[in-house]
Amino acid sequence: MSQIKHYTDALSHPIFETVSKAAQNLSLDSYVIGGFVRDFFLKRGDVKDIDIVAIGSGIALAKEVSKNLPNSPKVQIFKTYGTAMLRAQDIEVEFVGARKESYQADSRNPVVEDGSLEDDQNRRDFTINALALSLSSKNYGALLDPFDGLADLKSKLIRTPLDPTITYSDDPLRMMRAIRFACQLNFTIEEASLKAIKSNKDRIEIITRERIVDELHKIMLSPKPSIGFLLLEQTGLLDYILPELMALKGIDEVEGQRHKDNFYHTLEVVDNISENTDNLWLRWAALLHDIGKAPTKRFTKKAGWTFHGHEFVGSKMVYKLFKRLKMPLNDKMKFVQKMVLMSSRPIVIASDVTDSAVRRLIFDAGEYIDDLMTLCEADITTKNPKRFKKYHNNFKVVRQKMIEVEERDHVRNFQPPISGEEIMETFNLKPSREIGVLKEKIKEAILEGEIPNEYEAAYEFMLRAGEKLGLKPSDLKKQ
Ligand code: ATP
Repeated sequence: MSQIKHYTDALSHPIFETVSKAAQNLSLDSYVIGGFVRDFFLKRGDVKDIDIVAIGSGIALAKEVSKNLPNSPKVQIFKTYGTAMLRAQDIEVEFVGARKESYQADSRNPVVEDGSLEDDQNRRDFTINALALSLSSKNYGALLDPFDGLADLKSKLIRTPLDPTITYSDDPLRMMRAIRFACQLNFTIEEASLKAIKSNKDRIEIITRERIVDELHKIMLSPKPSIGFLLLEQTGLLDYILPELMALKGIDEVEGQRHKDNFYHTLEVVDNISENTDNLWLRWAALLHDIGKAPTKRFTKKAGWTFHGHEFVGSKMVYKLFKRLKMPLNDKMKFVQKMVLMSSRPIVIASDVTDSAVRRLIFDAGEYIDDLMTLCEADITTKNPKRFKKYHNNFKVVRQKMIEVEERDHVRNFQPPISGEEIMETFNLKPSREIGVLKEKIKEAILEGEIPNEYEAAYEFMLRAGEKLGLKPSDLKKQ
């Protein structure tokens, strides 16, 4: 092994001194390992968690560290895993005793026994995650890098410490992690690993959906999510995880007419939107905005390729997809559904921007109108520069019109200018169907631009509409 280098500058956070002293009190060696060390060399700031390995009991070390910290923070102990965690100011510190692991075929949870630092580094998923810095006074800051992880960091390579086939088969979550790191860090996965992932892809089925979704979220929040989705596709994992996306792949040709490949188009849209938003759910909406195109694809001589109603079908598919992946069926899902459902609306009006169409768009999108416009702009993936410019300009016109219309008509968070009670009082009505009908007519008149969104105009309109329905204003109101 080459000469050992020391990196004490990585250990400037006061917690390391405390851990070092606590370990000395217990006469054991300790190391900081994994993500923290990797991110130090990558100069990725914003440390949130630190992993400590003790050659001995991680739980005992955590308790000793806590004793030596101001206010002795609570130590959370996870008996099943033999780990402990505490929070020191802004960071979470995880403690584990060095261990050796062996696996059975049906579970990603290993059989564990005590081990050395090398044993512990062997069980790590990637060489770049196996780097350790010593916290022992005899060699404080020494880098222990048995697999040349530092070289892999430099050449931007995801590589496993041990045989990749065994590594991925033992814990198939590592397949997702490899792809996630490649995507987050813009690294390449080494050839042998890629092969091993391909041959182990069906083992993804033993991983819980929640874990898979965690990794998908991280891919989705990367600067260029397509890197991850392309790797998922290339390795065959996407078939298991998001078959709806796979179904978008391919170009059909009938009588010389072709449609675009909606899979690659979708990935471009996700990359585009990621330049303009960090909103995880808006990025999900971009990923799923065209999933209804696979089941609605038709070819007719007259119309060529069509995807009629794909937005509606797609929004229904969002629910099933979220349910299958055990994602939350809450307002986040509803937001994604709404974005998918409305994803073509701004495009439809862009070529002929009327006030009433813009009012309807703002009314229907409500508080999400800006997100919807961001999605539609990301959806422009034409490679024809003239069209690219034209489409963007069209949306500029829509956005400008939206500002004018909203300033005048306030339909974004539409509140009916006439309440149901007032309708009841005016026509002396008990709760009945007519009230809903009248409210709807008033709303329609405002959206169509027949009347302004104001009380007086709406009141007059209501009287006329009521009379047409055969209703008479009560005497009280007529005065
Ligand atoms: P991030 O914080 O970005 O998720 P991380 O590497 O810190 O990155 P953690 O999940 O906190 O990720 O894992 C901490 C360390 O534990 C990793 O760096 C790695 O050494 C090890 N590790 C985590 N998951 C696995 C796994 N499935 N197989 C082997 N080692 C793992």
